[in-house]
Amino acid sequence: MEIDAFFDIGKVKAMKQPKVMTIAGVSAEPGQRIRGKVALAQLSDGASVDIPFALLNGAKPGPRIYLGAAIHGDEVNGIAILFEALRGLDPADLSGQIVCVPVQHPLALYADHRLPLAQFLKSPLDQAPADAWTCFPGSQDGNPAQQLAHLLFGFIRECDYVIDIHTPTRGGRYVPIAILPPESLDKDGRILQLAKGLGNGWIMRSSSDFYVAPGILCVEAARIGIPGFTFEIGEGGRLEPDVVEVGKSCILNALQSLGMLSVSRKDPAETHLMKEFVGLRARAGGLLYNHVKLGQRVNRGDLLVTIVNVFGDEVERVTAPLDGYAVRLTTLSTVSTGERVATLGIV
Ligand SMILES: [Zn+2]
Repeated sequence: MEIDAFFDIGKVKAMKQPKVMTIAGVSAEPGQRIRGKVALAQLSDGASVDIPFALLNGAKPGPRIYLGAAIHGDEVNGIAILFEALRGLDPADLSGQIVCVPVQHPLALYADHRLPLAQFLKSPLDQAPADAWTCFPGSQDGNPAQQLAHLLFGFIRECDYVIDIHTPTRGGRYVPIAILPPESLDKDGRILQLAKGLGNGWIMRSSSDFYVAPGILCVEAARIGIPGFTFEIGEGGRLEPDVVEVGKSCILNALQSLGMLSVSRKDPAETHLMKEFVGLRARAGGLLYNHVKLGQRVNRGDLLVTIVNVFGDEVERVTAPLDGYAVRLTTLSTVSTGERVATLGIV
């Protein structure tokens, strides 16, 4: 599939900039790739924590895109997706500019956890809200999560597009899926167009789940006119070369769709545009058996998972309440009541 470049070259910020690209005091000449860092926090022993970033300033004009990963610290596939996608990219061939922040939350990465656990455990109430991903546009005078969001949003404001790479939290696995801000924030259709440009085969545009809540990185970016989305792929707490390879292709596809890069695309035969997530939760505790594959089409009434107790007796059969696709599966071996066992995407 050929995706035509659709950015309006008259509108993009990169074209308004001088030829030198300067972000957070770090400058890259046209055709240059450079690494920098910006101070995030000082710890109790005086050690400073920095956010590393890379700038790729294309030799040719084009839009500027923000590519971020690991705002949740155990979502390491995204880090590798970014370095693999950009590794072989020669800025001489690039039309436009890339701001790459492979680890958006270093304190959470140290914990290898969704949240910076040391801070959270030390003072849970004072850390609330603890998830920086939900704290955009952030606050310079806020708690650590809000300050981090403020700092990252300073980068994002300087860009024309944004892609924020995630995996589910530990114990869950998604198909590669672009999860869009609400349609009301995509008046010119550029968010959906960029999502199609990703070429991953799965797009969620819902109006009611936590992905479209105020404060989410891409929702707040869209609110100030910067199209983008959350890209979920693989599983938290794992580094998966096959998943990274898929994600790498998707990011290069997205750059191609913006006219920034020439690559031969590998698009899926079909793209599923969905309107709603339906999360299914356990009503009994026990061991979990999956009966569907990730991405499988299911019809209402199909058996998705069974739960057995510790004596091997079947205590629950979870069936599909609607027709849809199994877009997220639980990979944990045990569940308690209330825990999520599968998520359907409804077309
Ligand atoms: Zn995440």
